[in-house]
Amino acid sequence: MQVDVSQYNALIGAYCFEKKHWILVIVEPLQRRILYIDPAMNTPQKVLDRIRKQWNQYSIHQLNGGYWLQKFTWEVTSIPHSFQEDNSSCGVYVMKFAQQYLDGSSLSLDANSVSDTRIEMAKMILSNSDDISEYCRTCSSKARKKCIWIGCDNCSSWYHLDCVNRKIKSKLEAANIQSVDFVGPCCSKDSFYVVKEKY
Ligand SMILES: [Zn+2]
Ligand SMILES: [Zn+2]
Repeated sequence: MQVDVSQYNALIGAYCFEKKHWILVIVEPLQRRILYIDPAMNTPQKVLDRIRKQWNQYSIHQLNGGYWLQKFTWEVTSIPHSFQEDNSSCGVYVMKFAQQYLDGSSLSLDANSVSDTRIEMAKMILSNSDDISEYCRTCSSKARKKCIWIGCDNCSSWYHLDCVNRKIKSKLEAANIQSVDFVGPCCSKDSFYVVKEKY
């Protein structure tokens, strides 16, 4: 799908570098600027250069009007924000800053409220997540041709029969699959319980 970015005030994303540190990146097309908000405030210049380059490439290939965007020189800069005081909470800061940016408030998170904010974010993600009840808990996909579903007696998890190692012994048993005894890997503590590989 092509996106006309001139219709948007901002494009927001989290960017991870050195496989461990998250920063918030906000492209403001109308201002021709790319904001980076690094909770630890130590993004190397080469990472900022890479972000600018990747934005240019992305805009050329993916965005409607990409050639138009390419004409501009993009300023890569930051805006005032608070800083993390540990080595592990960059993700919480990035999410909170994204929310505050969208709300139009200042980017601020007190180090003492990081744990509460982490819980608040987790609750928000869970309450806005898709319904996964129609997906097999082993392979994460929906119904396939001729597949038989089996439900865990203990909770509401469902599986494709061939994604778990519960064998069905007869056609009669297959026809009455709902009443077959089955406890899924979700609730089974048996170490010998083998789940087939994902495919
Ligand atoms: Zn499955
Ligand atoms: Zn279960």
